[in-house]
Amino acid sequence: MSPSKTINIDFTTFHNIIDGKQRDAKTYTNGVDPTTGEKSWDVPVATEQDLNDAVRSAQKAFESWSQVPVEERKDKLRAFVDLYTEYKEDFTNLLIKESGKPRAFAQREAEGSAAGVIGHHVNLNIPEERYEDDERVAITRYTPLGVVGAICPWNFPITLSIGKMAPALLTGCTIIIKPSPFTPYTALKIAELAQNVFPPGVVQAVGGDDKLGPMMTVHPGISKISFTGSIATGKKVMEACAKTLKRVTLEMGGNDAAIVLPDVDIEKTAPQVAMGAFMNSGQVCVATKRIYVHESIYEPFLQAITKAAGTFKVGLSDDPGVMLGPIQNKMQYERVKGFFTDSKKNGYKFATGKDEVEEMNGGFFVQPTIIDNPPNESRIITEEPFGPIVPLQPWSDEAEVIRRANNTNAGLAASVWGKDVARAEKIAKQLDAGSIFVNSFSKLTPKVFFGGHKESGIGGEWGNLGLLAYCNAQCIHTFK
Ligand code: NAD
Repeated sequence: MSPSKTINIDFTTFHNIIDGKQRDAKTYTNGVDPTTGEKSWDVPVATEQDLNDAVRSAQKAFESWSQVPVEERKDKLRAFVDLYTEYKEDFTNLLIKESGKPRAFAQREAEGSAAGVIGHHVNLNIPEERYEDDERVAITRYTPLGVVGAICPWNFPITLSIGKMAPALLTGCTIIIKPSPFTPYTALKIAELAQNVFPPGVVQAVGGDDKLGPMMTVHPGISKISFTGSIATGKKVMEACAKTLKRVTLEMGGNDAAIVLPDVDIEKTAPQVAMGAFMNSGQVCVATKRIYVHESIYEPFLQAITKAAGTFKVGLSDDPGVMLGPIQNKMQYERVKGFFTDSKKNGYKFATGKDEVEEMNGGFFVQPTIIDNPPNESRIITEEPFGPIVPLQPWSDEAEVIRRANNTNAGLAASVWGKDVARAEKIAKQLDAGSIFVNSFSKLTPKVFFGGHKESGIGGEWGNLGLLAYCNAQCIHTFK
C-alpha cells in the first residue's frame, strides 16, 4: 500500500456493500473489457434477501442520518472527497478497465466527479421560505425523502453514481446504488470506500442481474428512485414506482439537435460540433445526434466536419493521441452496427468513407461516421444510436429547422451555433429541450439544473433546484 493511502483497498475483488459490510453471493456475474471482449473480474449478484437487508439498513440509518445537522453532513461529504482523492488513480484505472475510455477522459471523470460534483453540493443550502400575515407564520421547509434507490447506466458510471449520492446525502437521505451490470466495478468500490466515512446503511451498493432494478422499483421501503438510463426502461420504472407512489426522477435518452447558422466560422465551429457528436464515442445522453447546417455553407461545413472526424483517433486508452475508446458493451455495439447496416441498405451517403464497422483487437471499436443528408424518416434521424454515427442535413428556413429539431419524442439538450448570438439565443428559446447550449456542444455542470423535456425525463438533478428532488416540502403553520 502506498504511504499516501489511509486504508488498504483491493481494486481487484468486488463485493456488494450492505449495512456497512462487504457481502458476497452464491452467484457471480462479470463485466467485459470492451477493448478486447474478454471477461473482467467477478461481481456478486445481489438477491432479493440482499436488497431487503440493504433497505432495512438504509431505513434504520435514515432515522439518525436525517437528524445530523446539515453542516455535519457536509463535513462527512468533504471527508469522503479527501479519502476518495487518495485513490483517484485506482479509480481512473478501474474506470478504464470497465469502460475502455481514453486515459485523459477517464481521469477527468474519476478525478472530477468527487471533487467537482460533491465539491459543488457542499456549497448548497437547503432553502426555507417564510410567510407571515396577521393570523399565522408559515414556514416551508424541505425534509429528506428517505431511502433513495439510484439506478445507473453504463456510460458515466462514476459521475452518475456520485451525482446521485451527493444531493441524497446532503439532504439527509440514505442511498442504495445499483450500477449497470455492464459497469459494476467503480460504483461498488465507491460504496466500499464510503464505509470509512459514513455510518452503516447511509451509502450502500448492490450489483447484479436484470432482476435487481425491477425489485428496487417495487420495494415498499424505498421512497425514491433516481433513474438514469434509456427512455424504454424509464417508462417501466415509472410504471413500477406508481404501485407504491415512489417519487421518481427520470434522466433518460436524447436525440439532440445542433443548428448551425450561416454566419459561423466554419473551420472553428465544425471541429467543435464534431466533438459534441463523437465525445465518449457518442455514448453521451447529451451528445449531438442530429446536425442541421444552413444550406449556404452545407458543403464546406460537411467537408470540415468530415475532416475533423477523421482526426479523432480511435484506440486503446493509453495509445498516444487516442480520442475515442470502444462502445462499452457488446449489446450496444451490435445496436450501433445496426445503424450502419440500415444506412447502407437504404443507400445513404457515408461522408466519412467506410460504410461498415471493421473489427479491431476483438474489442467494440467504431470509427466516427457522418451520414450525408439522410431522409427525415430514416432511423439515424429518428432514433438515438448512442454511438459515433451522426447525420448531417441542410436547412434553409429558420422556422422549418426549429420544427424539424423539435420533431422528436426526446427533449434532453440541443445546441445552436452562430456569430449572431441574439439570433442563436432566439432559436434556443424555441427548442423543446431541457438544456440548450449556444456556441458550445453540451457541457454539463453540477452547478446548473439538468433534466429532460418530453420523453427525456421527469424532474431533474443538480443545481439548487436538483437538491429539492430529494426532499418533500413541508409547511409548518403556526397561528398567533
Ligand atoms: P438502460 O435503460 O438499459 O439501463 C439503465 C439502468 O436500468 C441499468 O442499471 C439497468 O440494469 C436498469 N434496469 C433495466 N431494466 C430495468 C427495469 N425494468 N427496472 C429498473 N431498472 C432497470 O440504459 P443504459 O443502456 O444503461 O444507458 C444508456 C441510456 O441511458 C441512453 O438512452 C442514454 O441516453 C441514457 N442516459 C441518460 C442520461 C441522462 O442524464 N439523461 C445520462 C446517461 C445516459
